Amino acid sequence: MIDETFVLGKVGALFLRLVKERGALAAPVDPVQFASSCGVLNIEYRRMIPEAVLTAVEDGFIVYLQDNFILPNRNKLRERFSLAHELAHTFFYDRSQEVPKPMKGSPRGEKLERLCHLAASEILIPSPLLKKELEKRGKVESAEALLAVAAHFDVSLEVLMRKLHESRLFQEEEFAAVLVDSVAGKQTIRTACYGSILLCNTARPKRGADFNSWVLPLVPPTGDPGDTVWKHATKTALISARKIRRSNRTFILDLHFSPPPPGAPMGSAEKS
Ligand SMILES: [Zn+2]
Repeated sequence: MIDETFVLGKVGALFLRLVKERGALAAPVDPVQFASSCGVLNIEYRRMIPEAVLTAVEDGFIVYLQDNFILPNRNKLRERFSLAHELAHTFFYDRSQEVPKPMKGSPRGEKLERLCHLAASEILIPSPLLKKELEKRGKVESAEALLAVAAHFDVSLEVLMRKLHESRLFQEEEFAAVLVDSVAGKQTIRTACYGSILLCNTARPKRGADFNSWVLPLVPPTGDPGDTVWKHATKTALISARKIRRSNRTFILDLHFSPPPPGAPMGSAEKS
């Protein structure tokens, strides 16, 4: 069965081999060091529209990366993720052939891309290293902690948040975070990490959903989704919310949940 276990097993094997050859795996993880184990003969920059492409050639693969990645203001985080993602695509090839061929029964389309994303985030944020880092830091329960862990692994906040959400390695009964983009005056959810306490209070924060309608149940009746700080007592929690601006277009909604005070009023908003 070619599923999550298959790809995570492949990544685990890459780690084992690296540890044998070089002694240790440490953050930030450079995906280039796994290229040869994946059969990648060369990594080349090309002027092209996709960010990265994997091509099977005689005896292995070539990875082409978009030449924007060699510009001085290149997006290094995206380049690292793109390369890790293309390395994951090699897992789905039969390399016993002279020119590797797609493996029989390997998934296609969205499912394949999803598995390659999963593998890429495991390559850049190896679960054993993530666990160690979180133990060292204690609780991860603030946007600031997320930013520090993302910097430690040299990954985007989006990649880290997805990884934390999937691995459930954060304080999900006390904390949730939602990454929000503003495009053309519309605020949409990009990604989130959360547990059941958030879902007791509002809908699942789906990618692409309109932020202002999604957040309404978390805002007190006297408040406004545009506020930057507020508190709201619901039946299940006292919610403390803060928006942490990352750029003109992006902010993190940092949510804290504590037990609701008995007989608490239904929230108060602090206008920004
Ligand atoms: Zn892909």
